[in-house]
Parts: sequence; C-alpha cells; structure tokens
Amino acid sequence: MSLSLDATQLDRYSRHIIMDEVGPDGQARLLDASVLVVGAGGLGSPVIQYLAAAGVGHLGIVDDDVVERSNLQRQVVHGDDDVGTPKVESAAAFVRRLNPDVDVDGYETRLTKENVELVADYDVVVDASDNFPTRYLVNDFCRIHDIPVAHGAIYKFEGQATTLVPDGPCYRCLFPEAPEPGTVPDCATTGVLGVLPGTLGCIQATEAVKLALDAGDPLVGRLLFYDAMDMTFETVPYRQNPDCLVCGDDPIDSVADVEYTDACTVSSD
Ligand SMILES: [Zn+2]
Repeated sequence: MSLSLDATQLDRYSRHIIMDEVGPDGQARLLDASVLVVGAGGLGSPVIQYLAAAGVGHLGIVDDDVVERSNLQRQVVHGDDDVGTPKVESAAAFVRRLNPDVDVDGYETRLTKENVELVADYDVVVDASDNFPTRYLVNDFCRIHDIPVAHGAIYKFEGQATTLVPDGPCYRCLFPEAPEPGTVPDCATTGVLGVLPGTLGCIQATEAVKLALDAGDPLVGRLLFYDAMDMTFETVPYRQNPDCLVCGDDPIDSVADVEYTDACTVSSD
C-alpha cells in the first residue's frame, strides 16, 4: 500500500491513525477503497455519513427516489430544503460538504438486471435497500462476482444484519426465496421508528469499514437481530445451503435467467 497522507489527512483521520488496528496504512487503504451503497434512505443515510467521515475514498450511491417530507423522520442525510430533489443528489451534496477526500458517484436509478454491472466496479457493497428484488439481485450478483455485502433490513421496531463474503453462506442460504408478493408490508404502510435504521445502518457501516480494512470478525454466517423495544441483540448462526441457487453445489453463473419480482405491498395512498 503506497502511503501518501497529507497534513490535512493526518489531522482529519488522527483518531484512526493512532490505533494500531487502523494506523496510517489502514487509513490509506480506506482512502483507496470503493464502496457502493444501495439505497439512500433510512439505512443508507447513516452508512453514507459514516463511510464519508471515515474517508472511504470512493462512494457510489444508487437510488431512484426523490426526497419526500415524510422521509425526514429517519433519512438523516437529507434536509427540509431537499424535498423534491433526487436522493442521490442530496446525499452526494452531504458527502462533499463533510469530506472533500471522497469521490462520490450517484446513480439515479433502481438497480435491475439490466444495470447491475455497475456494482462490479466496487470493492464492497452495502445493501441498504428496502425491497426483496433488490436484495436478492445484490446477493446473487455479488456472490457470482466475489464482492462482499453488508446486509441490513428493518421492520417497525426490529432490524437484522448479516455480512455476506465470497467463502461464507449467502442471503439465499438464509432465505432461499422472497416471500410471495403482497405478503410483506413495506415501510410506507407499516411505519418505522425513526432511529431504528440509524442503529442498523451504523452496524452496516461498521461492517463495510472492517471489510475495507480486512480487520476483525465480520458478521459472516451469523444473523444479528435487534429489538429496539426490548433493547436486545441476538445472534443466530446459519450455514451454507448445498442447494443454494448461487453458492450451492450447482451454482448459477449469471443473474440473466433469475426473476426478481416485487414482494412488497404497494401503498394505497
Ligand atoms: Zn447461498
């Protein structure tokens, strides 16, 4: 790793650099890393904030939504003035204001089979999406292309997180198929405690930084459950499934023939 931290960077990242577990080499590694954040909403907001602050040198952000006032209760990367602005624009502006070291690329689109190749340019992916088609597409594409994923999901007062690496079990090993369309409510219809995605997103950001540093023990083969009401964390181990579509004994080598359908209830209002 070539080391070229300037005086401003030595100052900005001094609390990283003084730790043996990061040090100047680790910080240089973060500045050299590229992380794609899929979703600039409740989970994506804290992920984007902390990865930008940590000096992850290249951040990609994928989102096809515009900021709505009802988002602001939890999507803390956006402000009242951003209502009506594409979320990728608002999030990129936040990153540029926080840390000029970070190159940020916004993709104002929904991730689909047709554009998923853009993911291949990144070292690490954070799945901060809010729907099953994107979740399975990210899992499948990243597994085929050996890209680690920090996964997170939330529901009302509860959340879950796990980390998917090329030699560990994948999201489909845990949940082989998405639930039937219409059986799972989404945030718009059920509500979510505003601070909940903050907690989960911070866990995902922690995992992404560890993956970029190649440090610590990521949440591999472990599903972390968080219950905000009981204030409990529980970790459940899970294994690779030999029948898994993408990491089992007879894995697919392309997402082209997989169907990614939306299982979320569509909000009526
Ligand atoms: Zn699998």
